Amino acid sequence: MLKNELPVEQEKIVLSGEVKSGLVLVDIVNGFCTVGSGNLAPQAPDKQISGMVDESVKLAREFCKKNWPIYAFLDSHHPDIPEPPYPPHCIAGTDESKLVPSLQWLENEPNVTLRHKDCIDGFLGSLEKDGSNVFVDWVKANEIKVILVVGICTDVCVLDFVCSALSARNRGLLPPLEDVIVYSHGCATFDLPIHVARNIKGALAHPQDLMHHIGLYMAKSRGAKVVSEVSFGI
Ligand SMILES: [Zn+2]
Repeated sequence: MLKNELPVEQEKIVLSGEVKSGLVLVDIVNGFCTVGSGNLAPQAPDKQISGMVDESVKLAREFCKKNWPIYAFLDSHHPDIPEPPYPPHCIAGTDESKLVPSLQWLENEPNVTLRHKDCIDGFLGSLEKDGSNVFVDWVKANEIKVILVVGICTDVCVLDFVCSALSARNRGLLPPLEDVIVYSHGCATFDLPIHVARNIKGALAHPQDLMHHIGLYMAKSRGAKVVSEVSFGI
């Protein structure tokens, strides 16, 4: 019903060398993507999440082949600092806060900037103590006009980052950035259906397909472009 009432039309995009593009990977770490890897990891194989990882790997390979910039967030928390409302997850230095096995090769690629963050919104998580912002500097230094965003969760960390990036762009803080693009098949969220949530005290229901859709809808409503296909021109 919601999908009929809140449709999200998706475009197709062709990226070419003429318009400088950057790929943003949001939290494609074991603690959110690898079965059994902690409190917020899937407990069983999950099609949406594994599909997101596969699409992200393909894009990362293509960007690296072209030597285009990649910015990868890694959720990473100090063991003594909780992140309510979530249970402990992605503790710094553990496997949970590492890129999934199929993306670990990115750690050695010269075009990749890794950013550990200890909050939901990666834009805020890119702030340094001196007030500078590593993400803003990355956009400027690489003269990026388009960012393509993928990762997890569509309606949480992806959405918050996209909203902040759009606000920052609109305030003139992110030159020369023009477009924030969310690739739907490159995003995923977790599944906590109502019948499970009902038995967990204080838990909010979070049906995966619907919340993924709502994440895309919210991103689009804030001014992001949502695409269902990404290809590469000459
Ligand atoms: Zn976190």
